[in-house]
Amino acid sequence: MRQFEREDEEDAERLGKAHGRLLSCKTNEEYRATLSEIDYIKAHRSETETKILEHLDQLDETQPIVEQLRGEVEEHIKALERDVNSRQSEFNGLEGSLSDAEARRQKIAAEVESPWIKAYQKVRGNRPGDVVVRVEKESCLGCHMSLPPQFVQEVRHNSRLTNCPHCLRILYFVEPASADDAARS
Ligand SMILES: [Zn+2]
Repeated sequence: MRQFEREDEEDAERLGKAHGRLLSCKTNEEYRATLSEIDYIKAHRSETETKILEHLDQLDETQPIVEQLRGEVEEHIKALERDVNSRQSEFNGLEGSLSDAEARRQKIAAEVESPWIKAYQKVRGNRPGDVVVRVEKESCLGCHMSLPPQFVQEVRHNSRLTNCPHCLRILYFVEPASADDAARS
């Protein structure tokens, strides 16, 4: 389009010059040659004008397609924005649950005596699985290593915090059911 417009500007300039030369022609030949140049330029300008009009028609035809595509892109952007917003509110909800859980954890931790928390965290940092485990049949149920009978008696009293000498888990003891219950089970 710009190329045609440039060509037409050049033609207009050439046409002006040719008209000027017409007045100063010395011979009939020169005059006729200038006239035919003027005709040629006029014909060329007419062709250029036709091409420009054709391009304008094409622009008119493509305009609705461009509008449709623009509409589709805008819809797409809106859908993405809705998606971002819904994810943001989902994230906000999760963040809220997390801070609720954190507050509950701190409340519970505050209710437990501090040395116990320290002992718990020390073991949790070192070992996978449960931190507080039962002693059964003179063995630690965390690492399944057997414990000396004297040590088991200490745990049995449940009077102080006792760690397994092998895996360091915190131990506790539950008295087995009575002899009758044991016989039945
Ligand atoms: Zn153990």
